[in-house]
Amino acid sequence: MADLILEHIKGNTYYIPLPTIVGVYIENGEAILIDSSNNKDSARKVLRLLEKNNLKVKMIINTHSNADHIGGNAYFKNNTDCKIATTKLESFFTEYPLLEPAFLYGGYPNELLRNKFLCAKPSKVDYIIKSEGKILDTELEAVELPGHFFEMIGIRTPDNVLFLADSLMPQNIIEKYHLFFLYDIKAHLDTLEKLKTIEADFYVPSHAKCMTDIKELIDININKIYEIAENVRKIYNENELLKETDILAKTDSVLEEICKIYSIKLDANQTVLLGSTIKSYISYILSL
Ligand SMILES: [Zn+2]
Repeated sequence: MADLILEHIKGNTYYIPLPTIVGVYIENGEAILIDSSNNKDSARKVLRLLEKNNLKVKMIINTHSNADHIGGNAYFKNNTDCKIATTKLESFFTEYPLLEPAFLYGGYPNELLRNKFLCAKPSKVDYIIKSEGKILDTELEAVELPGHFFEMIGIRTPDNVLFLADSLMPQNIIEKYHLFFLYDIKAHLDTLEKLKTIEADFYVPSHAKCMTDIKELIDININKIYEIAENVRKIYNENELLKETDILAKTDSVLEEICKIYSIKLDANQTVLLGSTIKSYISYILSL
């Protein structure tokens, strides 16, 4: 990994470009981090970069508990005095990360699934925060963004920069992968509609560059989700799977059909991530 940089956005708000970006807000000479990067190696580099800029890490606020967002927590906990803050549901996964592969797999996760992509090192959560409104005694504000994960939040800084977590995927990822992990399709669609109404000077999705206008990207995200939901519905109708007994028994064959449509090859991680997502799509179409 090349040397990291602290990219300035506006005022006291910065971010560190990484596969899962780390937001940095400087308050009273100390850094508050938005997510902690994906593992101890990247966290070590983030800490080194902050130290080079004479910044002490005061707190990490995790947008949600996926391993690529909390993966550096344990390293920061072991090497600094920082505190960790998350919403309540996300705190369970942060403190007991085995819950993530267990939830995705729907049973005790075998060794193949207990890897760094699905299972971070555990870290103690110091503060449970509300998913909307002022965060503790900081100048930051939480914005509810449920859907991708249980109690995911975005974070707005006083510079009017909004960190969007995984609520918005960049166009190139959507075009390449089509399907990305979602827990609750309806909640996610509502979150995307809500984002259209939220004004900010800069928007920072976790897996994309900082942006000033997200309206077009929101529509690209929404359209892809509707397209997949429609494909799932067609597979159900064509195979007459809407009989009650088939709904649970045939989810794997729906995943298989969807993978054929989008030429997706599944490895162990993708099988549980997309398998879980397809089940969420099925719940969504059944609720319509
Ligand atoms: Zn992510």
